[in-house]
Formats: sequence, C-alpha cells, structure tokens
Amino acid sequence: VDSSAERVLAGLDPEQRAAVTAVAGPVCILAGAGTGKTRAITHRIAYRALSGEIAARHVLAVTFTARAAAEMRARLTALGVGGVQARTFHAAALRQVRYFAPRLLEGRPMPELLDSKVRLVTLAAARSGLRTDRAAARDLAGEIEWAKSSLVEPAEYVVAAAKALRETPHEPARVAEVFAAYEQIKRANGVIDFEDMLRAAVWGIEEHPDVAEQVRAQYRHFVVDEYQDVNPLQQRLLDAWLGGRDDLTVVGDASQTIYSFTGATSGYLVDFPRRRRDAVVIRLVRDYRSTPQVVGLANAVIRQARGTEAQLRLELVGQRPPGAEPDLRIFPDEPTEAAAVAARCRQLVAAGTPAREIAVLFRTNAQSEAYEKALAEAEVPYLVQGAERFFERTEVRQAMIALRSAVRSTPAGTPLVQAVVDALAAVGWAREQPPPGGAARERWEALAALVQLAEEYARTPNLLPIGDATVATARGGVSGHAVTGDPVGWVERAVSLAEFGEELQRRATQQHVPTVDGVTLASLHSAKGLEWDAVFLVGLADGTLPTTYAKTAEQVEEERRLLYVGVTRARQWLWLSYASARSPGGRPRRPCRFLPQFDRSGGERATPTAVEGRKPDPRRNRVVSCRICGATLLAGVDRKLGRCADCPSDLDDELYRRLYDWRARVASAQKVPAYVVFTDA
Ligand code: ATP
Ligand code: MG
Repeated sequence: VDSSAERVLAGLDPEQRAAVTAVAGPVCILAGAGTGKTRAITHRIAYRALSGEIAARHVLAVTFTARAAAEMRARLTALGVGGVQARTFHAAALRQVRYFAPRLLEGRPMPELLDSKVRLVTLAAARSGLRTDRAAARDLAGEIEWAKSSLVEPAEYVVAAAKALRETPHEPARVAEVFAAYEQIKRANGVIDFEDMLRAAVWGIEEHPDVAEQVRAQYRHFVVDEYQDVNPLQQRLLDAWLGGRDDLTVVGDASQTIYSFTGATSGYLVDFPRRRRDAVVIRLVRDYRSTPQVVGLANAVIRQARGTEAQLRLELVGQRPPGAEPDLRIFPDEPTEAAAVAARCRQLVAAGTPAREIAVLFRTNAQSEAYEKALAEAEVPYLVQGAERFFERTEVRQAMIALRSAVRSTPAGTPLVQAVVDALAAVGWAREQPPPGGAARERWEALAALVQLAEEYARTPNLLPIGDATVATARGGVSGHAVTGDPVGWVERAVSLAEFGEELQRRATQQHVPTVDGVTLASLHSAKGLEWDAVFLVGLADGTLPTTYAKTAEQVEEERRLLYVGVTRARQWLWLSYASARSPGGRPRRPCRFLPQFDRSGGERATPTAVEGRKPDPRRNRVVSCRICGATLLAGVDRKLGRCADCPSDLDDELYRRLYDWRARVASAQKVPAYVVFTDA
C-alpha cells in the first residue's frame, strides 16, 4: 500500500480503520453523532483511491445537503484526492436527467422544475372544491411529497395513508383527489416537481438499458451518508444505480432520523445488516466532536427516546477535554432572547472565535428573522443557510439570463439600477405595475427583490459598516433569500452591472463551503452533519419544539431527535434558550419538554443538564465565572481559584482584565481574532 494511503489511516481509531480498510462490498456504520462516521467514509474513499484500488471519478458519494457535499470534497482534496462526485440525491439525479434528456426526450424541451408545490396544490385543491390558505396548501403539498417519496400513486393513497397511520390534513379520499388533480395540472403545464425528477432518473435507468449501462459505468463505488433519512424513492434510485452490484458503504444514526414526515425511514439503515448478510458492520461510540458536558446532555436527551431504534442505541463516550456546562436560559420575550444571543455572539467574536464557528439553530425558518435583525443591530456578520434557493427560482434564473445579456448591450456608465430595470423590462417585467395574482405574483416578487438588491448595491458607497449593510439588505426584503452572508462582500465590490450580473451568477451556481466569516443561521433540519465551536439552540419553547403540529407519539419522537441533532452540533459551547412569551406581555409558554428544567428568572442562567426525571444537583447550579475573562467555571479546582485555566494565576487581576479588554478592542477594530500571549517575562 502506498505511503500516502497509509497516512490516511493516521488519526483514526481501530473501528474507523476497520471501516476504512474493509474490502470492496457492503459496509455499514451504525453510530451516534460526532463519532466520525463522515470522517470514516471520507477516509475510506481516500484510502481506496490512493492505494490504487479504485478511481476517484467512479465514486458517487451521496450526502444530505449541498454544504455537506462541498465539505466532503474539501476534506478529500485535503487528503490529496480530487474528482470524487459528492452530491445530494437531488443534484446527482438532476445531473443525470439533464445529461440524458436530449436522448430520452427526442428533442422535446426538458420540463421546468417546480421550486415549490404550493401554488399548483392550491389550484388542485380549488378544483376539488377545497378552499385553502397558504398553510393548508402547504400541509397538502407536504402530504403529496410524502406519498411521492413513498412511491404511492394517487389511486393507492387512501390505503397507504391508513397503513402508515398518517395524520392527514383532510379526509384521505379528498387528499387523494387533490393529489390526482395536482399530477394532472402539472402534466398539463409541462412542469415536474423534485420527486418527478428522481423518478425520471430511475425511469431512465430502469427502462433504457443503454442509459443504465452508461450510468453504471460511471458510478461504480457508492457511499451514502445520513442513510437513516433515505426515503423509498431515493432507495429505488440507489438500487437503480447499483444494478445488483454491492460496492456500497452506508453510514447513519437512527437517533438522527428527522425527515420521516417526508417519507424517510431509518428502516433501510437498521435492516441493512440483515438484508446484506455479508456486510461488514461497524459501530462507533467515541464522540470526537463535543465536550463531555455536551455529550452528557445529548445522551440525556436521547436516553428518553422511545421507539424501535432505542434498543440499538449506544451511549456516546466523550473524548474531548472538559469544557463549559451547557447554558440554559429563559427570556421574557423573543426580541430579548434574540438580542441576548446576538450580544453573546459579538462577545465570542471579540474574544477571538471566528464568526463562522458560531451557529444559531432554530426549529422553523420563520424564527430566523428575529436573529437576522438582532445580529445586524449588534454588527455581527451572518449567513442564512439554505437561502441559495432564491437563485433556483425560475423567474430569478430568467432575470439573470436577461441581466447577463444586458451586460453585453448596455452602454458603459448607465446607472446600475436603470440598467437592471431595462434588462428586466426586456423580459416583460415593469416595476410600476401592480403585483398581479397567482403565479405572476411570485415572479413579480422575485424580480422586485432582485431590483431592490441592485438598488441597495448601487446606493451603497464602497463599504458600509457590517451592521448597516445587513440592515439595508434586510429592509430590502431579500434577506433570508439573496443575501446569504457576506453583506459586506456585496457592497464592497465596485458597482457595475457587469459585476452585479457576475456576482448573481456566481451565487446562483455556488456550491462550496461558505468562505464568508459569518454566524450561521440555520434550521435544525439543515444543520444535520455539520458542527460549530459554539451553538445556540434558540426558541426551545414547547409548541415550537416540539412543534404543535407534532400530534402522534412518533411525531413527538421525531422532535426529540431533532433536539438531539441540535445538541450534538456543538463542539465547545452550547447555549439553549427560550422566551416565556413570543412578544412582551404575550401568552405564557412552557419550555421544551425534552429539556432540563429552565428556571424562571429572566435571562438568568438556569439549571444545567438536569434532564427529565433526574434531580438536579443543587451544588452544580451555582454559577461561578472566571474573575478575569468571565468564562463559566467548572466544578472543582478552578472554581476555588476563581479563574479559568486560560488565565494564569501569577499576575494581578487588574492587569489581566486590561489585557482582555484590549484584546477585545483589537479584535473588534480589526475584525480579526486577536490573541494575548503570556510569556514568563
Ligand atoms: P454526525 O452524526 O453529526 O454526522 P459523524 O459521526 O459524521 O457525526 P464526523 O463529522 O465524521 O462525525 O466527526 C465529528 C468530529 O470528530 C469531526 O470534527 C472529526 O474531524 C472528528 N473526528 C472524527 N474521528 C476522529 C478521530 N479518530 N480522531 C480525532 N478526531 C476525530
Ligand atoms: Mg456525519
């Protein structure tokens, strides 16, 4: 074996090594969060490629998010392996469908891909005499997504929904009717949805031997991360790709199944060793990601879980040095909670933690806005995960094509906004027009957002302070869409139409790990597989987590797993918080039932790590902070000293405090971390 392949084995524990070096054939890693599953599969690919066993270009590594795919590619590049296809199911299917479309469609145009089902579902519901508001239409769309991901046709829906104990948004027969109407409208309009796209990829392989041959020649070695959240449609596609071959490595954690509402099931993972009797099965329990304190809370949250996967679970064993206890806080209302979180982020950044190592995670995307605002006010840069979607919208794509062609024909010196408006007018959009209804309205809104963006871009002379730029773009109504992170970057660059167009293009196609140094705002769902030094789990009120929509016992269990996913994202610091009312004086709320008791004092630190049914140890509730830097101190020696291990004890407090102050000021002035180095002198 090549020495570079040997190097790939360094830094792995014996079980991980076994997974990495297992011979070609089915391999299954069943293990908890942070135990190095993703690391193991990444190293397995690298090891096999570097030792010459396989060619990197024949590997298809399926990940759950584009960001995870980008991270895997980055890790592989660092190990000296390029050319691996790391993609989501969707991206891999889309690529395949696009590639074969000219052949399979015989010249017919490739159908437009629907970004969201909601609009067509509303039409379909109206056709069956159901009046729906947006929320009701979304519920129906979710149900249709479940059915299609579960390979259930409209005619089979009623039986399948009953069998799966679905909590249906309407009488099952009505849902089936809407489902059928939706399919019909979709076909009549020549559009397809995401599930259709996966189905098209399956159909291409199953019905066309030449396509199958070509696809299978390309993809020979398969790796699937987060396999606990695969749905029947995705499994069918995986089987189509495999075509009976067995060079497949799957990894997952049944305790992190958080997509069963869309038809995902941990069954494929859990049953894998039974289905593939020759599989090498590996279990990992050492947690390399988080401090033992965070691991303790994670174990406590998931220990209470009910369900089939409960028997398979192993307690995580923390490997990292001890850190701070998870911090639980209660605030009187959401704006206060958001402001406190933003202030804490600012402190962390000032003390040297890069903003990209911080995440604020929430249950629903609607919660994002309060944090965007608070972070902007605190002048902390941030990026909203999943916001790239804006650029996938049809109308935005069209607008961008128009912009790019405008770049070629616009005389130099034309003001940016004017040029953008002219370009958009060329595709039939006029901003003075009142927003029309239905489909046209969405198009109008997306274009309006683009123009607004251009206006902000044009108006901002060179560099705004981070906060102002963020507020400006947030006011433009596009934050959470177009302004993913880097608001400074947007305005920093010289303003010209050409550059604006290029920037849009870059953002539309970008699929790399964000290089922007901003705090990540993300939903718990989209945080899966990722990790940060500091994590804030916010809005942990009962009714938000678990959501009021979780009615059945299974749905409530899924919410518990969602919390487990959240807790296990933190490497070093974990803050959990909730507001006892949404707005000042609002209806009182209770804390998330999966958590330790929060005490009732506003903004005060609450009971640490006492979880359901376990009595808190009163001695551990008294919080002691370092006299110098303010870090929370652990029980034991450093509590007695009154200062943390990072603050040496042989100089007087006043001098240290001044040094820390100075460091914070340098850090915030330069917007880079600053370090104070203590030497003997
Ligand atoms: P999740 O279930 O959240 O996806 P995971 O099991 O995929 O977690 P990884 O992301 O692979 O875990 O690893 C978690 C962290 O631990 C990473 O920072 C990784 O680099 C580190 N790590 C994994 N294995 C080791 C090891 N043997 N030695 C040191 N660090 C490790
Ligand atoms: Mg992982």
